[in-house]
Amino acid sequence: MQPDLTQEILELVRLTSTNLPPDIEKRLRTAKEQEASGSAAQGALDTILKNVEMARQNSTPVCQDTGTPIFYVHYPEGWSTRILREQIQDAVVQATKKAFLRPNSVNALNGKNTGNNTGDEHFPSIHFEEINEDEPLVIELMLKGGGCENVGAQYKLPDSNLGAGRDLDGVHKVVLDAVFRAQGKGCAPGALGVAIGGDRGSSYLGSKEALFRQLDDTNPDSELAALEARITEDANQLDIGPMGFGGKTTVLGAKVKGLHRLPASYFVSISYMCWAYRRRKMTVLDGKVVYR
Ligand code: SF4
Repeated sequence: MQPDLTQEILELVRLTSTNLPPDIEKRLRTAKEQEASGSAAQGALDTILKNVEMARQNSTPVCQDTGTPIFYVHYPEGWSTRILREQIQDAVVQATKKAFLRPNSVNALNGKNTGNNTGDEHFPSIHFEEINEDEPLVIELMLKGGGCENVGAQYKLPDSNLGAGRDLDGVHKVVLDAVFRAQGKGCAPGALGVAIGGDRGSSYLGSKEALFRQLDDTNPDSELAALEARITEDANQLDIGPMGFGGKTTVLGAKVKGLHRLPASYFVSISYMCWAYRRRKMTVLDGKVVYR
């Protein structure tokens, strides 16, 4: 019989909301050291890091906007996705009651808040993928803030205004344009999830999936790895800096995913993730639960 994982998922939500992952915190600390001593940029990063420590100690949300809960569930063959969905929704409702999540789900037309972070079939957002029977259940969660979601962008190449063609140079141009237009809004420094290709919907989805990667990993595709490094380096020359105060740290990194596309279309989608880069993972095998 399928186990009841509601409490374990609740712990995943708590951990994600209150405890920033080590790779993100490490990168923020490095960024603080690199900024000029006494600068507004260094001050902003210092405040962010103190906030991160306090949130962890007190088990309170890292930011008041606890974002859209986005779950990716890799479930072994034979598990019921209907039961998993119910358990995830229950855990989200309980997490809202315990104030690990702010009630964030409002009706699109009248703005009425459901009060518990549920809504239509897309809130919370849950994606399922079946894996082999003998593999562990893995549930990944990202809490995606509204301010940073607002500065995401989608481009259709070629883009004559930006001189961006259908190649990696063109991708680089439009990603930098999105960072420039954001001007630190969406709570810089953040990270960029980029998808090249797909249709409009799958392209945005791919750009969010890229953000589940570790900040310090290397893209197995050498061309995309080089593009990620170039985007990060060039974005950090824009002098937008933490919270738009100027400085060397406009983005913490970039993660790029290539998708198949129709010959007629060449979309580039950019999901901007703020410094409150909240994503965690739980793995369940033989009744044991491990969080990362
Ligand atoms: S963009 Fe991120 S850091 Fe800024 S308010 Fe929203 S969740 Fe918080």
